[in-house]
Amino acid sequence: MGRKYEFNWDLLGDIEEGRPNLGPLVSTEVYRLMQFCFRDVLEKNYGSETADKLFYEAGLLAGKQFYQNAMDKTGDFGNFINSLQSILVEKGIGILRMENADFKQGKFVLSISEDLDCSGLPELDHEICVYDEGFIAGLLECFTGKRFKVKEVDCWCTGDRTCRFVAEISNE
Ligand SMILES: [Zn+2]
Repeated sequence: MGRKYEFNWDLLGDIEEGRPNLGPLVSTEVYRLMQFCFRDVLEKNYGSETADKLFYEAGLLAGKQFYQNAMDKTGDFGNFINSLQSILVEKGIGILRMENADFKQGKFVLSISEDLDCSGLPELDHEICVYDEGFIAGLLECFTGKRFKVKEVDCWCTGDRTCRFVAEISNE
């Protein structure tokens, strides 16, 4: 039996036709409302660890789909990061900086300021941007053809003013 909800980019719809007056944008508050309610319900049903795993997996899928459908796929790694920076600003997702790129080790450190998921949140005792971790992993995987494991090491929620992610090639 076919799946009911398998993702494809067409599900995002023709926004120009569908929202002629309201347009393509929505408030950050509404986006966060959905994300944080999803997280609450997933945790209640499946526990914190599985909720995080599912968010990561959804981010991974989103990152891959975003790369396939929304990004220019020509050029080298520098072009990839430049076009990613532009599109993340254009879409209001965040301000990306590549802080360190170690091609030999396959290890990258990147930060996202004004992050859509967490910037401005109250301080918590844990990083919150699990969806972003997956999203970055999906983008890097598509560009490089290698699997990545991404971990957020600093977050607005842990008292930093920017979110910082360590991405490493994964052999898992
Ligand atoms: Zn964060």
